[in-house]
Amino acid sequence: MHSEGAKALESTALYGSISSRDEDALALSYFVPVPPAGHFNIRISYFIVHHPGGLQKTVKIRNIKSLSKDELAAWLIGHGQPAFRRAQIYDWLYRKWVTAFDDMRNIPTSLHNELATRFSAFSIIPIDRQTAQDGATKFLLKLSDANTIETVILHAADRYTVCISTQVGCPVQCAFCASGRHGLVRNLEPGEIVDQVIFACRHLGVRISNVVVMGMGEPLLNLHNTIAALDALCDPERMAMSARRITISTSGIPDGIRALADHGVPWNLALSLHAVTDKKRAAIIPAVWCSPLSTVLKACEYYKQTTGRVVTLEYTLIPGKNDYPEDCRGLASIATTLHAKVNVIPLSATGAHFRVPSQKQIRDFVHELQRQGAPVTIRESKGASIEAACGQLRSRDKPAGGDSEATATSGTESL
Ligand code: SAH
Ligand code: SF4
Repeated sequence: MHSEGAKALESTALYGSISSRDEDALALSYFVPVPPAGHFNIRISYFIVHHPGGLQKTVKIRNIKSLSKDELAAWLIGHGQPAFRRAQIYDWLYRKWVTAFDDMRNIPTSLHNELATRFSAFSIIPIDRQTAQDGATKFLLKLSDANTIETVILHAADRYTVCISTQVGCPVQCAFCASGRHGLVRNLEPGEIVDQVIFACRHLGVRISNVVVMGMGEPLLNLHNTIAALDALCDPERMAMSARRITISTSGIPDGIRALADHGVPWNLALSLHAVTDKKRAAIIPAVWCSPLSTVLKACEYYKQTTGRVVTLEYTLIPGKNDYPEDCRGLASIATTLHAKVNVIPLSATGAHFRVPSQKQIRDFVHELQRQGAPVTIRESKGASIEAACGQLRSRDKPAGGDSEATATSGTESL
């Protein structure tokens, strides 16, 4: 029976080897060398459990970081562990960034084994990395079910920022965005969202202080898991990050914005506005997810009042579509009414039927906005040469070499 189970597992394994066999379960571990951070030891998400009668049952292994604090505490109590054990485990997971229970040196070996039969300590495997000259590094990361997501590390003079994904694909399917081109594949679990930040910290060997939830997916359509992940990032016992250094970008889901406000943590909110009339907005955001502008803006006002945070309006500039004088006037008026900052994002090429703005078109639009009294910044779209700029992230099912499109100004390597 073991060999049958092993065969089944081997046939589904993409790489890795069977590392442990016992009476009831087979476990697969991946050992992937990732310089310079050492080895990742990642368990896949399913065990095949054999019962004496010959039945097979597939048991899902959860990423331990997807458990709430209470769930983990209850599990540990149920397994006869002292109350301080959770803090020890958190220290290894969130401060020391270990990827295997075996590495938790002050935890008894018997508990390593128990944890490993129910949970994984880390859920992503890097399979491709591309670095742009502007310092942006994009990673293609494989999840335990073989889906892929992309995570980008951005480097400014004084800080690193990690841009994380919340879904595989995106259901919203905005006209200019590569992330939504094939719709939604699935939501990410809280642990998979957190692991992108831990992966970035491991890669750099430093604690990253800034996170933007602006990768693949619409975070407010995976609200529960996104909030659980961001809570873990801000929890003093876990990643202990400042809420003020985390920004969530949304295409404008009013109920999600209100629920986020009611959660009561002062994360920064960025609204992807893009157009100042319902008609123009509907040409960018498909109708099913495009709420009336007045409803979206009321929800933003509620967010501002409830959390005390200024909302940012993201405005992807598309020449010939949303850069007319009336667009500029409308945008300045919304920004001043909402006391919001405007962040103009020059459209990045994604193969959609939109033109990319010239430097002059960007400058003119920004000057006019400033003249009308709106606080405005231009988003430097880092990573365009490696398709890591805004809206260029997409899920891919082929590892490096398959469809990497790095240009001469960037480097790409398989991990
Ligand atoms: N789903 C969320 C967050 C991810 S998209 C949202 O839509 O806000 C992050 C930002 O990238 C959004 O402001 C989005 O409008 C922008 N974006 C998407 N495609 C783009 C493109 N081709 N060029 C420039 N910005 C783009
Ligand atoms: Fe989804 Fe945001 Fe892309 Fe729209 S812009 S398809 S909401 S990721």
